[in-house]
Amino acid sequence: MTAATIDDTEATDARALTDGIHLVVDALRLNNVHTIYGLVGIPITDLARTAQASGIRYIGFRHESAAGHAAAAAGFLTQKPGICLTVSAPGFLNGLVALANATTNCFPMVQISGSSERHLVDLQRGDYEEMDQLAAARPFVKAAYRVSRAQDIGRGVARAIRTAASGRPGGVYLDIPAAVLGEVLDAKSAAETLWRVIDPAPRQLPDLDSVDTAIELLATAQRPLIVLGKGAAYAQADEQIKEFVESTGVPYLPMSMAKGLLPDDHPQSAATSRSLALRRADVVLLVGARLNWLLGHGDAPQWNPDAKFIQIDIEASEMDSNQPIAAPLVGDIGSVMQALVDRAKPGQISTSPQWRAELAAKAEQNVAKMADRLAAARIAAPMKFLGALQAIRDVLRDNPQVCVVNEGANALDLARNTIGMYRPRRRLDSGTWGVMGIGMGYAIAAAVETGEPVVAIEGDSAFGFSGMELETICRYKLPIVTVILNNSGVYRGDELSGSEDPAPTALEAHHEFMIKAFGGAGYRAETPDEVSAALREVLASGRPALIDCLIDPSDGTESGNIAHLNPKGITNPG
Ligand code: ADP
Repeated sequence: MTAATIDDTEATDARALTDGIHLVVDALRLNNVHTIYGLVGIPITDLARTAQASGIRYIGFRHESAAGHAAAAAGFLTQKPGICLTVSAPGFLNGLVALANATTNCFPMVQISGSSERHLVDLQRGDYEEMDQLAAARPFVKAAYRVSRAQDIGRGVARAIRTAASGRPGGVYLDIPAAVLGEVLDAKSAAETLWRVIDPAPRQLPDLDSVDTAIELLATAQRPLIVLGKGAAYAQADEQIKEFVESTGVPYLPMSMAKGLLPDDHPQSAATSRSLALRRADVVLLVGARLNWLLGHGDAPQWNPDAKFIQIDIEASEMDSNQPIAAPLVGDIGSVMQALVDRAKPGQISTSPQWRAELAAKAEQNVAKMADRLAAARIAAPMKFLGALQAIRDVLRDNPQVCVVNEGANALDLARNTIGMYRPRRRLDSGTWGVMGIGMGYAIAAAVETGEPVVAIEGDSAFGFSGMELETICRYKLPIVTVILNNSGVYRGDELSGSEDPAPTALEAHHEFMIKAFGGAGYRAETPDEVSAALREVLASGRPALIDCLIDPSDGTESGNIAHLNPKGITNPG
């Protein structure tokens, strides 16, 4: 190369330009973002294209809620904020549902949304998709930020990632107006505005005095109990948790998304004597589980009114939110569990044989009662929920690598108790809000992030909220089997209508035809044997598939096992 040529190249480099779109992509790549879940449109279409061309995997959805739920699930599974990309105003609002749900569930997620022109929006001059998105997002998220100059894109991305992942994880909104995406900058100086976040979720070590108090409380307990929540699953402290549980012999209860942290057939699992365990435990160690409605707020009579609670949580303000916390262990679960293991003297915490025998006797009774129900359901025609679920359970037991996604009312309650989980973070469900609509989004993220097959067990009503994502599943050829427990209704399908229209709870669908339209395999199963044959076949094929299981319309309880939350009108008003 001649000197003249070198000079030319340098001159060209000095003049090289970039823009807001490329800076966003560069900032994400610098922070090891491998996947974006989104839905394109004004003003972010070129951002998605540029991301894809740069090597980031872009998964395009049919509705922003599903894209958002996918990003949230990716956050839960990887501890890295899942990224959702949305268009302005309506698209942003659709995604916000998922961002709020991620925040409620403590999953790290960043929703990046394009937005309309600030000078028009702020004077309410009626711009295309006009909305003050930053203000709209703020009440529902951990934090909301706006980038107003392209030179702040790197800072905005770094701040969003840090905030979403550190402390109690949650949803962060990052607003990038169209004008900022289009801003043109000198490439060299723009590159210097980007940085990689170092250690986005630093360890948080507990106060050792509190650790010792917790150990003393557990050591004096007559009937100790450990409750594992989805925070424990998220923390990826599987080894420390196993070591503490097994070395102390304390019985444990897994919340639904903590199932599989220890295998469900573990001898210390108190899942089949749950009510007795809560009613009788005198010292309770909560590990990444909040005493919210899912745990009856820790109140009597569900809980022993004299129980003492020890709580491990990264969020100090979670302590005392429902019950007095005798030993608040504020820190990350891995560090706290390790401190408990290290500071408990050998044999200091043990579990009396009487307590274990009491729980075992109750478990035996409950299992025997359930066995009768299961045996009856196995041969019932038309098929019952529990008939189909036993078939699914048996197939999944042979395929423990499968990720299970689960939503619905009866479909959720019954699957949670019937389907055993044997590996950590293999179950994703409606979570803290008990929300419907997470199904296909969570399933897509589970397939993309883990590379394992996914079985989504869906109530027919719940499936409807994200059903169009079957097309997304087929387009990306993801190994997802959607199993619909179809009893033709919300809760049940045999309600008589009070008018010429169908009853408010009625539904009617042959879902297997839907997936065929997109090139997937569709099955209709009317017996448990047909369910298991179809499921085994599609799991072996790795193809996108849907099994519509025809369930007796009279099977199902209104509002599942939370019917007490559902007010009933008086029969003869006036
Ligand atoms: P579940 O619904 O399974 O009972 P929750 O969602 O109620 O679980 O509770 C999860 C808790 O775990 C939250 O309070 C959250 O702050 C906490 N948490 C999440 N990640 C960590 C972590 N790495 N270390 C400590 N606590 C965590």
